[in-house]
Amino acid sequence: MNIVQILLEEIIGFFGVEGLIKVFQSGDYSSLLTLNGIQTVLSPVIPLILILEIIRALLHRRFKVGEYKLTFLTHVFNRFVSRFVTIAAVAFCIGIFEPWAVFKSTFTWYWLIYGYIVWEFAHYIYHYLAHKVRLFWCLHSTHHAPENMNLSVTYAHFFLEAPYADVIRTSICILAGVNPPLLFFIMFVDGTWGAFIHVGENIVKDGRIGFLNHIILTPSHHRVHHARNPLYMDTNFCNLLNIWDRAFGTFQPEEEQVVIEYGITRPMNRGSFLDMYFGEIAALWRDVKNGPGLKNKMLYLVMPPGWSHTGEHKTAKLIRSEFRKRNLNP
Ligand SMILES: [Zn+2]
Ligand SMILES: [Zn+2]
Repeated sequence: MNIVQILLEEIIGFFGVEGLIKVFQSGDYSSLLTLNGIQTVLSPVIPLILILEIIRALLHRRFKVGEYKLTFLTHVFNRFVSRFVTIAAVAFCIGIFEPWAVFKSTFTWYWLIYGYIVWEFAHYIYHYLAHKVRLFWCLHSTHHAPENMNLSVTYAHFFLEAPYADVIRTSICILAGVNPPLLFFIMFVDGTWGAFIHVGENIVKDGRIGFLNHIILTPSHHRVHHARNPLYMDTNFCNLLNIWDRAFGTFQPEEEQVVIEYGITRPMNRGSFLDMYFGEIAALWRDVKNGPGLKNKMLYLVMPPGWSHTGEHKTAKLIRSEFRKRNLNP
């Protein structure tokens, strides 16, 4: 395969238009009215909005290469490294856990509601652990490193994060009886919305999107999740339905007077792909190496980021509660 062909395939893959091309070639447009057809039409939406976002920034002379460079590099890196790992992990979990499912559901609207609530719960568990277990934070921090919000952040992930997330989410859903085709449909809806909530202020300035802010998780809520402000840290773990954030007390709306600062609290080497991708692993390695005794070394792996063997913890939970105490009793 020559380089032009590879590039063309990458571009088609990125825009998710393989399905549409097949439909145009076959001339059978009736398939667009099926569930698969709807997915085919929706797949290119997020990449297209991303391109629109970049064009708008260019037109307003606000385009900064730095805001997109690292997320783009991460996407390219992942395309080559983790292309099939996730698919294999999902298939493996379905095979293992389906016989143990508590019951079997079918592809109907009421099971869709059930399935979505279970999926959102499973997503909450994965995402909560990704923030609260230092080893998992190493995988997730790449997604939180960007200091601007735009749709390219959707593509910024450590290559092992997707398999880890999907092993947890798939296993819980399958054990809870969610039927696999229903699960794939939910994954698609979740993936599309999960990408859209990274839309930048360039395209959607007020991320609350009107009344939607009261019923589902909007870009505004996810901007809060990506913020390093003490009030916002480790909140809004859900993706579309924020029921579990509300149930578990991690729901935090965007406050007018607390302007979002994106990124992570560790001082970073700005513009470095290596620091964005491996920085947290290096920091964890240093702490494990310097931690006295085997117990402390192990604790560094499983305790939340900011935990210290000296007792001088700087976890998000402590920082947030100190901030709230100060601001409630000035
Ligand atoms: Zn997160
Ligand atoms: Zn995100």
